[in-house]
Amino acid sequence: MAEIEVKKVVIIGGGFAGLECAKQLANKPTFDVTLIDRANHHLFQPLLYQVATATLPANDIARSLRSILADAGNITVLMDEVTEIDSNVNLVHGKSGKAYSFDTLVVAAGAKTGYFGNDHWAQHTLGMKTLAEAYEVCETVLKNLEKAELSDDKAEQEKLMTIAIVGGGPTGVELSGAFVELIQRSMRRNFRRIDTSKLKVILVEAGARILPTYEAESSAYAQKRLESLGVEVLTSTMVTDIQEGRVITKSGEILAGTILWAAGVQAESIVGKLPVEANRAGKVTPELSLALPGYPNIFVAGDVTFMKDSNGVPVPGVAPAASQMGRFIGKLLVKEAIPGNAGMERPGFVYWDKGAMAIVGRSHAVVEFGKIQLKGFVAWLAWLFIHILFLVDFRSKLSVFIHWLWSYITNAPGVRVFEYKPEDYKDNK
Ligand SMILES: Cc1cc2nc3c(=O)[nH]c(=O)nc-3n(C[C@H](O)[C@H](O)[C@H](O)COP(=O)(O)OP(=O)(O)OC[C@H]3O[C@@H](n4cnc5c(N)ncnc54)[C@H](O)[C@@H]3O)c2cc1C
Repeated sequence: MAEIEVKKVVIIGGGFAGLECAKQLANKPTFDVTLIDRANHHLFQPLLYQVATATLPANDIARSLRSILADAGNITVLMDEVTEIDSNVNLVHGKSGKAYSFDTLVVAAGAKTGYFGNDHWAQHTLGMKTLAEAYEVCETVLKNLEKAELSDDKAEQEKLMTIAIVGGGPTGVELSGAFVELIQRSMRRNFRRIDTSKLKVILVEAGARILPTYEAESSAYAQKRLESLGVEVLTSTMVTDIQEGRVITKSGEILAGTILWAAGVQAESIVGKLPVEANRAGKVTPELSLALPGYPNIFVAGDVTFMKDSNGVPVPGVAPAASQMGRFIGKLLVKEAIPGNAGMERPGFVYWDKGAMAIVGRSHAVVEFGKIQLKGFVAWLAWLFIHILFLVDFRSKLSVFIHWLWSYITNAPGVRVFEYKPEDYKDNK
């Protein structure tokens, strides 16, 4: 019997794109797959803001990659950070010092927070891309409330009780709505010296409207709804500088104990090691087959890409697009491995737009799917259903549902504990 040829596939990133690609190759004897991620888990980023606002525990939105792929005997999961790609000799290098050779490489490393060239703003703001960042956001907001309760200085209290969120896209909208609900309402009887109803959440957006990629009607609804909850929405407000505790805009200055940056993303740095030119956001444009021009064995998928699909439709940086790209590459590799298919003409990727949705405070949302637009409670139910449906496994789905139901009924989110760190109080003499 002829020996089967086994292809070595290395996948960088176990996010939506990388994991979906791996799943397509699972238990296919013609592939020896190595999935490398610097984290040990797959993270459901669309629910990160729920961790940041103390609504869901991290376990509900992240799951060990190893356990997800435990039954795929041909897939090895390695926790390492890829720092170099040598496309001439088909090798990637990890921070661990290890090198990994490949026949096929799939780069699905996702995106990180981007500051439009103002990288120094990072030291004064908190981002929202990883679990660690979501914890930090949560802890900073809660700690500032504790500090405000300790303070006798009214101006200081006011600053500590102000959260400025830069960027009026879905993340900024979801965070701002969730923070007012959490602190103004759910925590209203928790403090004695400060009045949590005085908490200020200011959402700063450079464009003329929040949710700029949505229909104008949805944007207007979201703004009205946020304002009715007590969020100050500043549109057409360009941030010109960010310093410690202050956001400087063209129309004035905001003093805030917590500054969250939700205004931009750029591709992960490893993309810069690919042998093709990247755009200003560090993203690369593959061929329609998702392979790099001139490198048929190197594919890119998800947030690292900037492209239009085979129908000329721009592919957005959202989870369904990443999953679809990962699945497309996996299926293509399986097809090409069938004897006789080598060298076949590759099909082009077609993006299936599953719509957009953003939650606006507790129990309200906006949903757009083709011509269908939903707003309010019905939209929130649709949002809830879809997000639970797409969580990775049954335990997460059930657990998230129970946590949401509990926080909805009791109006009291649960995940509010953090460690005492003496250095946090070093300025409070
Ligand atoms: C706060 C927030 C809210 C969002 N809300 C929504 C939403 O409501 N709906 C929606 O559709 N999309 C949403 N998105 C966008 C969506 O999460 C992304 O489009 C999606 O995660 C992209 O998938 P990906 O596989 O390209 O990257 P990711 O899911 O980011 O995965 C990339 C993986 O690569 C790993 N990695 C990165 N660099 C390296 C390296 N050098 N070596 C090894 N591993 C590496 C990372 O650890 C990560 O696990 C949201 C994103 C954020 C941050």
